[in-house]
Amino acid sequence: MTISVSQRVEQILSLLETNYPNSTGSLINFSSPFQLLTAAILSAQSTDKQVNAVTPKLFERFPNPILLSHATIEEIESLISSVGLYKNKAKFLKNMASHLTEKYNSNVPTTIKELIKLPGVGRKTANVLLNDWFGIHEGIAVDTHVKRISYRLELTENSNPNKIEEDLKLIIPEGKWGKITHLLIDHGRKICRAQEPLCNECFLSTICPRIGVIKDLKK
Ligand code: SF4
Repeated sequence: MTISVSQRVEQILSLLETNYPNSTGSLINFSSPFQLLTAAILSAQSTDKQVNAVTPKLFERFPNPILLSHATIEEIESLISSVGLYKNKAKFLKNMASHLTEKYNSNVPTTIKELIKLPGVGRKTANVLLNDWFGIHEGIAVDTHVKRISYRLELTENSNPNKIEEDLKLIIPEGKWGKITHLLIDHGRKICRAQEPLCNECFLSTICPRIGVIKDLKK
């Protein structure tokens, strides 16, 4: 019996939520949208663990956009030097904080259009902030795990993150746009790994077409 796309998506979501009941973002040290935005900028091409190690001291010293906008690049660099690309990120953070103080009265804007104009902020970061802090479901954050697993599960045929996001928005219920990112990241870390997907142990194996898995393994 063939099932519709919406039935498949419903099954996938249900199985993911059952198996990862506490799925949530793994950036942990923030107490404002500015701090989550800062942590998300730092997490590009770095692990969340690395970011979590530097944010307590960074936010102790610069808890808000005004203080960060007055920091020197060298001060910021010294606090985030264990994070990848820290020199670029130090500049992004200072400029982002200046932008917030000058244009938004030190508040964080709440649309993707405004957020992606901030230094260091792309659609993924903007979506993480909107979904996880504000509960605004304007889009879906597509990281490397979401990209890979969406393709393997045949939820998209695209490889461009923006196009994948559009595909997912058409089939994932809006209330799950934030959650799906965290569920797929958990699944990507634990089972559907890039080079060694554990298909034999996977709770999605009966409904997964495993698109591209062999190709990935040959890389
Ligand atoms: S069956 Fe394999 S490819 Fe499909 S989701 Fe599970 S681990 Fe990934």
